[in-house]
Amino acid sequence: MNMSDPIVVDGLSVSPDHYIGGRRVPSASHFELHSPIDQRLLGRVAEGLDEHVEAAIVAAQQAFPAWSKLTAAERKPVLDRFAEEIGKRADAFCQLESNDAGVLLSRMRHGVVPRAMLNISWFAQHALDLQNRPIETEQARHIVRHDPAGVVAIITPWNAPLMLSTWKLGPALAAGNTCILKPPEWAPLTCSLLAEAADAAGLPPGVFNVVQGTGAKTGARLVSDPRIARISFTGSVPTAKWIAQAAGANLVPCSLELGGKSPFIVLEDADLDNAAATGALMYRNAGQVCLAGTRFLVHAQVADRFVAAMRGYVEKLAIGDPRDEATEVGPIIHPRQVERVQGFVQRAVDGGARLLWGGGPHPFGAQYFQPTMLTDLRQDDEIVQNEVFGPVLTLQTFGSDDEAIALANGTDYGLGGVCYGEMEHATAVAQQVRTGFIWVNSFGIRDLAAPFGGIKRSGVGREGGDWSFEFFCDIKDVVVPKKPFRASFSHR
Ligand code: NAD
Repeated sequence: MNMSDPIVVDGLSVSPDHYIGGRRVPSASHFELHSPIDQRLLGRVAEGLDEHVEAAIVAAQQAFPAWSKLTAAERKPVLDRFAEEIGKRADAFCQLESNDAGVLLSRMRHGVVPRAMLNISWFAQHALDLQNRPIETEQARHIVRHDPAGVVAIITPWNAPLMLSTWKLGPALAAGNTCILKPPEWAPLTCSLLAEAADAAGLPPGVFNVVQGTGAKTGARLVSDPRIARISFTGSVPTAKWIAQAAGANLVPCSLELGGKSPFIVLEDADLDNAAATGALMYRNAGQVCLAGTRFLVHAQVADRFVAAMRGYVEKLAIGDPRDEATEVGPIIHPRQVERVQGFVQRAVDGGARLLWGGGPHPFGAQYFQPTMLTDLRQDDEIVQNEVFGPVLTLQTFGSDDEAIALANGTDYGLGGVCYGEMEHATAVAQQVRTGFIWVNSFGIRDLAAPFGGIKRSGVGREGGDWSFEFFCDIKDVVVPKKPFRASFSHR
């Protein structure tokens, strides 16, 4: 079978095929990829059939013995080259993800691509510190080994494909696993380019494989296979439940990074202008950001002033083509998602909510939606309880810290949070919010050494730093006695 024609986007080309065992593999079946910017057809992407998933698992299994036997120090130069090859293709990564996912080109250039490189090189370096950490007791020396688990399945969503794929690949590969990445079907192009970068870096064939395809077919087949040793998933709650069941059937550990409905708390002693400027940032990526603070909880005494300040910032947001460096808010990924967002807003308004701003389609294009803020809400309203994943925020007021904390904790989600107020006051309130992480008087500060993940419906497990390695490794205690050991029934 011939290779498929490359997909050409704004003069840059990328393969639509799978990458299995170090070579491109076409498919007899394809799915269409459209740009969220203007709905134009970007190309036809290979669909992963059973035979492709099977070939990827076999290739990854075959590559595992040699890759896992290398020391972290031996893997590091290969992974550093992988990071460099990502850097060499920076322009292409920016253009492709801007076109297929609608991510801002400026954000790709200044944030995502440097971070993708760091995701690979930082974990390669960090793996050096993991080797054989001993625990010394009077009785014994425990050599605590971090052994690679085997073939890892990585499943990522469309809102940040490059960032999230490398965030999982970095530690998985550095620990000595071999990987199969199933990219999101609505935005797969940068994952295909990652395969090109890995190839150019000289990653041995089969160490990193990409199988394109839909979740229901390709993803489901991959995560159900008993030869998979770990499943690292970022995406929605319903998919996570399905994957957890598939993983359960094979008793395979899975890491689940899911949705959010995070509170953005503004206390009465907050710097309102600063809080409002950060508030407007929640519309970044058209609100398609898991960790955004989407439920504004504002002290009643300052609510009017805060709303006026935030309105000022929102009115100035530049909405448009994500490829334009000046744009601050781009499109929604898919017509289906636009419909979903509109449905949430309509039902909220029908139920008595009041629009502070926005509320409908934006004239820039079919997949653009106005930055929206709803108020006059009850805690059990659908829009307060469920993740919209679009440029739609809610605002409720409170009269005391206890009330703010109760509202903040009053959903089934627990991913992130933001808390603005006098530093000590805000820190004290933030610590009482039940969530995986929370930013005090700030937003979006991330460190690869820190744990990341959610509680309740926002996820199971933590990734980042040592937590990633704990997940991607089999941790083994080799117990070496310090005194001669002789078996006896009285021995404990
Ligand atoms: P999704 O769950 O629909 O899809 C995510 C991935 O899972 C895709 O690659 C999809 O093809 C695949 N998939 C779907 N069904 C599958 C199955 N049965 N078996 C295996 N794979 C399957 O999510 P989405 O709509 O692409 O992404 C949006 C969601 O992701 C939001 O809920 C968002 O909050 C969440 N998200 C979470 C984080 C985080 O770190 N917590 C980060 C980004 C996005």
